[in-house]
Amino acid sequence: MNEKKICACVGARTRDIQTIEAHYKDNFIPTGWNLEYTCLDQPEAARALYLTGLCLRCGGQLPKKFTVPGELAGDALLEQIYHQMESYRPFDFRFDSGAYRTSLSMRAHWYMEQDDLTLGAKNAQFLKLFHAEYQGVVEDWISRRHAQEPYTAPRRDRKSTLLRAVLERARACGDLREIEPILDYYLPNAQEPLSSDMDSYLTNYQFSAIANISYGCEGIFVDLVIEGDFDDSGTNRCAIGTFKTLRQDNDAGRLMGQLCGVLMYHTTRYVNENLHRYTPKRELEAEFRRMQACGGQKEGTA
Ligand SMILES: [Zn+2]
Repeated sequence: MNEKKICACVGARTRDIQTIEAHYKDNFIPTGWNLEYTCLDQPEAARALYLTGLCLRCGGQLPKKFTVPGELAGDALLEQIYHQMESYRPFDFRFDSGAYRTSLSMRAHWYMEQDDLTLGAKNAQFLKLFHAEYQGVVEDWISRRHAQEPYTAPRRDRKSTLLRAVLERARACGDLREIEPILDYYLPNAQEPLSSDMDSYLTNYQFSAIANISYGCEGIFVDLVIEGDFDDSGTNRCAIGTFKTLRQDNDAGRLMGQLCGVLMYHTTRYVNENLHRYTPKRELEAEFRRMQACGGQKEGTA
């Protein structure tokens, strides 16, 4: 940690638990993780995992402490810390869909980034919590316990992840070369992300990508819509992206029409190429049971 000052707000210095809670809820911006401990191989009462953070109001450091059960040691201790890093998301409400209800969108988006880390990035972040003398032990534990994504719990794409992947794919193929220069904007994007309560995971591949073009009073719009079964919400239609050009001429109409085809093509191809990530959990579990019955050779493969 650097030498930055501690949050000086009244809300963080009082003994009144409700006031502290309210201050954190309104001002806590998480930034990372820190673990305080002396050893891993024996029980130790004072171990604590911190979600480090900054105070939105004064800019000072505002860590949130999670006490690690003192009786734990060895593999059980590492598993507990790993699990906390994966699931400790204080002051916001995380839905099963992966969306968040929050009073501070910066915080929810940081939590969503944590949820969406690749396995390699998550393991690297975990390893960094430990002193140099324990790096070997922890690396060994990771390779035994978390070297592969569980087959039945793959990392999912959110609605915004799908749109981003489709655009990256289309851009890499050169399919947006003529179209992007005429765009006024598209949403969501990095500066204006989809709100955290909307940006849920896509957990089923049984949907179609449909693009709609429409002329507005000042320009042409294209909406990329997914229709069918894409999650368990009961909703079967959702716009995942909107594109707008200010132009209304014939050439712009042709290019925006072309954009519809490009978006539909790349969405379909991308989902087909990443089918495991879009397969419902119950199907993955059934497939996993079949694989185990055949000798369990394929465990962990995607
Ligand atoms: Zn403060």
